[in-house]
Amino acid sequence: MHGPEVEGYRYPPDCPFLPQRAGMLADLLRRQGLLEGAGVGLAAVVPAPVCDLLTFHRLDYVEALRRVSGGDFCPGDLAYGLGMPETPVFPDLYGYALMACGASLGGADLLRDGGARRVFNPTGGFHHARAAEAEGFCYLNDMVLAAERLAREGGRVFCLDLDAHHGNGTQEAFWRRRDVLTVSFHESGHTLFPWGGFEDEIGEGDGLGFNVNVPLPAGCDDRAFTLAFQSPVPPLLDAFRPDAILLEVGMDVLAVDPLAHLSLTNNATADAVGLLASHGAPILATGGGGYHAEATVRGWALVFSLLSGGEETDLTAGLGGVFLGTGDWGPGLRDPGFQRGGEEEERVLGEVRRVIDRIGRDVFPLHGI
Ligand SMILES: [Zn+2]
Repeated sequence: MHGPEVEGYRYPPDCPFLPQRAGMLADLLRRQGLLEGAGVGLAAVVPAPVCDLLTFHRLDYVEALRRVSGGDFCPGDLAYGLGMPETPVFPDLYGYALMACGASLGGADLLRDGGARRVFNPTGGFHHARAAEAEGFCYLNDMVLAAERLAREGGRVFCLDLDAHHGNGTQEAFWRRRDVLTVSFHESGHTLFPWGGFEDEIGEGDGLGFNVNVPLPAGCDDRAFTLAFQSPVPPLLDAFRPDAILLEVGMDVLAVDPLAHLSLTNNATADAVGLLASHGAPILATGGGGYHAEATVRGWALVFSLLSGGEETDLTAGLGGVFLGTGDWGPGLRDPGFQRGGEEEERVLGEVRRVIDRIGRDVFPLHGI
């Protein structure tokens, strides 16, 4: 989901969120020939109509967004979370947020009507936005809207969030629902915004056990992440039997990211995506965080190549650094492997084991696992 219609939007210069990553990704995919395979293509984005936002967002909030975006900000808008350092008010933020939602909703429609089996929307993944509150660079929650669309008429949606930050807005939206199973992997709320997403937050009422959090300790490397991922995800997928998978691919998990403190390489995300792709359910993947632009775009290109069914290594071997115009990268789209080792590794693995044991005890029995 990308085209010139989503390019040109910019957050303020002092804000680390970079909408231009989507255009950079499209350029990289084009140069790599990854948009030319059979059955692969670009779909145009149309802005979401207001009525579609209201399946989750409150009308007064949507109207406030439109107003401040036009330059009319008043102190009362702070109650909507607007105008904070991580929710700046800037020209046409509303237009950008509508495009992001339109792209995820358009992707959901493609899955629903059989137009595609896999969709990637790099202008998406705004998982912190609440029904009437902006938070963490997020104004409208395209994840929630897309999950609602996919869950229409009894669809079962497996909503998996791989961003370094907890998907708190999405969790809140489906806290009491069992048709949308939310699973969030993220750096622990002990060390990173939004300071929550602990393993004991498992939903309530009808949704008890249908919200899963896997907090990862700072310094988590690929080996520990893979252990954390392999333990709950395959059994939950088997038990839940989703009709669609919604996937937030934040690339702020990478060791080079300036905001988060995880130590992953893009191999960890790629392996997770590969496991999901082997499941067979249609996938709508979105972008998300990722504050080292080049590393983020490279990781997304790798994810795109896996989702579009190509094995990326043959196609791109030896070309990554050249195409990106930087000498920092090795060949291909994959990062060099990294494993921490030593006492620090034991600390990280011990913490991951504690969390997955807890999920096994608290959540698995609710799914008959
Ligand atoms: Zn993030």
